[in-house]
Amino acid sequence: MTTYFGAIADDFTGATDLAGLLARSGVRVSLRIGVPQEPPADTAPLEIIALKCRTAPVGEAVAETQTALDWLRKAGAERFFWKYCSTFDSTPQGNIGPVAEALMKALGTKQTIYCPAFPENGRSIFMGNLFVGEQPLAESPMKDHPLTPMRDSNLLRLLAPQVTSPVGLANRHSVAKGAAALRDRLALLRSEGVAHVVVDAVANDDLFLIAEACHDMTLLTGGSAIAMPLPEIWLKQGLLARHETGRDHRFENGPAIVLSGSCSAMTNRQVTAFLSEPRPSLKLDPLELAENGHEAALDWLLRQDLATTPIIYATAAPDAVRAAQEKLGTERAGALVEETLAACAAKARDLGVRRFVIAGGETSGAVTKSLGISRLDVGAEIAPGVPWCFARTGNHDVAITLKSGNFGSEDFFAKALTVLDT
Ligand code: ADP
Repeated sequence: MTTYFGAIADDFTGATDLAGLLARSGVRVSLRIGVPQEPPADTAPLEIIALKCRTAPVGEAVAETQTALDWLRKAGAERFFWKYCSTFDSTPQGNIGPVAEALMKALGTKQTIYCPAFPENGRSIFMGNLFVGEQPLAESPMKDHPLTPMRDSNLLRLLAPQVTSPVGLANRHSVAKGAAALRDRLALLRSEGVAHVVVDAVANDDLFLIAEACHDMTLLTGGSAIAMPLPEIWLKQGLLARHETGRDHRFENGPAIVLSGSCSAMTNRQVTAFLSEPRPSLKLDPLELAENGHEAALDWLLRQDLATTPIIYATAAPDAVRAAQEKLGTERAGALVEETLAACAAKARDLGVRRFVIAGGETSGAVTKSLGISRLDVGAEIAPGVPWCFARTGNHDVAITLKSGNFGSEDFFAKALTVLDT
């Protein structure tokens, strides 16, 4: 079926998060890892291209998203979405603004919105300030993120240095007045030359309202949640049809493994919870990896009883992460962990593992790359924004879930395996 909606995500877990929410509509969702080499074929009405460009140099991120946009346009897409993290993760050189601006130029559109709110996961925006639960972003654990520490909570202040055109706000009061009022507010800002509009949202209802007001904008940007209501609107307009054959749950039932490279506060709790049951576990230390490489981790894996669901993790508290980064540099510390977990994933597959639970956005990118996975069919959600996906790797049908750092509840790892068994 021809594609109507084409989304570009700046990391892998962000893409699966978006895929899971869109799939709630019953419309077929296809997720491509990287821009496909081949021209579009067997496309779904909702296509997502997952990139790994959140922390890439700006020029690289812009070029990659441009190629993705070209592919989605060839697939027939008419509406586009630039998906980034619900905590607006970006460096001061940031890619969120420059990419949005480049996409707007390519699509010939004069205005877009920025709405990373995800109320179901505790991300809300009020007066342009982003909150994680009850804490302003800059006071939340995101202030200690290994790659994109967020030290300001105000989205207008974060965005302004990243773009060349003016930034404005449609605040909660405009949103609360309804879709028509919000459209008026956007039109007024457009007449004042405001190209980039941060839109407040504190509850799911706000998202439905914003989607209603903005569903005909050529380009929307935000977290996954703002895209969630769009398929329903397009279904009602007859622009989309539901997937008749249901979701693809094909995989070879087999052993499972948990690989965690996320150091977020929630992942730390999830790893601790998973370790409270006796099971084989290996903690990776970046300093040791720098010294001795990753062979020891592969040897360890070889010796495990895979039926007991081992876990390999580099997940650590902020002070330990900082210590490793000071000695090795942030990039090298991250790369060593990512390479090791990626090598462990390929080894685990070769040893018979068929279910993979991966924690961490960058980590997921490295793991799927090493497994040679280029397309995922999206299945049932384990937690809001974290679905099981089904893919082919090394001639095997496997199930894989890619969890973004702060997502899921404390029992996520155990719950993931239960969801697949039912
Ligand atoms: P999240 O989704 O929580 O942001 P990511 O995988 O995207 O997780 O980012 C975490 C980054 O931190 C990765 O590059 C990972 O390799 C790196 N990392 C993981 N453990 C450590 C550690 N103990 N010390 C330093 N860096 C680490």
